[in-house]
Amino acid sequence: MKEIYRIAIDGPSGAGKSTIAKAVAARLGIDYIDTGAMYRAVGYKVKAKGIDADDEAALESLLNETDIDFRKGDIILDGEVINDKIRTPEISKMASIVSAKGPVRAKLVDIQRAMGTRKSIIMDGRDIGTNVLKDAEYKIFLTASVEERADRRYRELVAKGQDVNYDDICRDIAARDHSDRTRELNPLRKADDAVELDTTGLDIEQVVAEVMNIVRACD
Ligand code: C5P
Repeated sequence: MKEIYRIAIDGPSGAGKSTIAKAVAARLGIDYIDTGAMYRAVGYKVKAKGIDADDEAALESLLNETDIDFRKGDIILDGEVINDKIRTPEISKMASIVSAKGPVRAKLVDIQRAMGTRKSIIMDGRDIGTNVLKDAEYKIFLTASVEERADRRYRELVAKGQDVNYDDICRDIAARDHSDRTRELNPLRKADDAVELDTTGLDIEQVVAEVMNIVRACD
């Protein structure tokens, strides 16, 4: 294995990217970067400030005054830990909306690329293998059926005490899939050189083992 290597994990919402990436990062002793959390952070701030996401000038000035970082697994927005505040259905929608805006993608992709130059990382998102880290040493595209992904997200939110409805989650996931796949800028798509892994019916340990095999096999 190279001294510094990058693992890119892409796939639709709820495919298990962050759970798997976190576990693989712990096994390999490398950092995990959750790019979805960065889009959520911007969505959260846009909402909190009451900014119109279609107003590019307002978005640009908000981005100029926005600092996003990770510290010990926490996502920090302008100095504040916002882990829990960004995991709601409302912020999921806002993240998807702001992620289609050019100035938002430009700023976040710059930060993400810089993070990928200093040390070995595993980064998950929608455009990591196709855009952010095109030359990543390892690329994985995680998928699962819409029903299974909705079921996983439902259980996760219920466990956090949120009052949610399975059908609403299923509809939200299908809608986000559609907009993530059809947007003009860096749409969700499998990189030609990524290994596709369908996680439907697999548990976390099985998927982690598959990813570890892919990483070892590509050595
Ligand atoms: O992965 P997560 O569901 O937290 O991402 C939230 C939203 O951020 C996604 O629905 C997607 O629209 C956007 N996103 C993106 N590019 C990434 C990561 C996330 O457009 N690399």
